[in-house]
Amino acid sequence: MSEAHVIAFANQKGGVAKTTSTIQVASWFAMKGRHVLIIDLDGQGHIAPGLGLEKSDGLYQLINEKKNISDVVISARKNLDIVTNNDKSTLVQKFIQEIEFDKQYFLDEILQTPREVYDVIFLDTAPSKDVLHMLALIATNTLVIPANMEFFALDGVEYIVRTLNDISKIRNVIPPYLAGILPTMFDINTRLTIENAKNVEAAFGTEQTLPPIPHDVKIRECISYGKTIWELDPTCRGAIGYENLPGIRKNSAGRVGGYLHISEMIDSIIEAGRK
Ligand code: ADP
Ligand code: MG
Repeated sequence: MSEAHVIAFANQKGGVAKTTSTIQVASWFAMKGRHVLIIDLDGQGHIAPGLGLEKSDGLYQLINEKKNISDVVISARKNLDIVTNNDKSTLVQKFIQEIEFDKQYFLDEILQTPREVYDVIFLDTAPSKDVLHMLALIATNTLVIPANMEFFALDGVEYIVRTLNDISKIRNVIPPYLAGILPTMFDINTRLTIENAKNVEAAFGTEQTLPPIPHDVKIRECISYGKTIWELDPTCRGAIGYENLPGIRKNSAGRVGGYLHISEMIDSIIEAGRK
């Protein structure tokens, strides 16, 4: 059996829909019958409540207490397990900071067993430049950078691109494949959104500017109800995107953007990687 593909959603800026995107895309893969794991690397621990569960210290147990992955995961849905996190994340960071040798491969090594057990592993990262963030970028195969179309969000994007450059200089580390910038909370009627989307395209190229996730209150409601969009309203705009947005490749249903489109695109990246 082939090893799991690891996907990280990262942007050093908070509130850009990293956690939301992780939950929607991961649950889509689980729904399609893949065996999926989400590891919450953010001490805010929003993955568990986002799926209707209590926060707990799964990551702390896995790393500081050296428990087996099978003993720390919580089943969130059919085919979807999670490693939770909470404020003990600072102790996890301290533990990793104190490792003297080969710290940069630490998370990659922790993922060794889960890679054999799962089909796809998602890493939700913290909005900071902490050690877990850096190790996530080293351990992941594919990176998606969610960004809402505000000036400071784009600042975060530049920071990640610089970090990727730094990573490529570390010996024996293959930098992740950058799937692209994922414009989130996209409001087609707002001038700032459109202007910034153009700036992203100019800076990263159209290939690396992914179809946008529309701003949709249904997506906001998901987190507070602890439901995925596929459970709450799979036909809303946040899930199935726009009917007509010129210049962007449409999905199989003839629509553009939304979590269905981006999930399908990530699926094809994984499939291409297997060949
Ligand atoms: P991050 O993990 O990057 O800090 P979150 O995923 O927690 O960001 O999202 C921040 C807030 O934005 C949450 O309240 C979430 O419900 C809301 N949100 C995310 N995506 C959308 C969207 N497409 N439309 C409306 N609200 C959204
Ligand atoms: Mg988050």
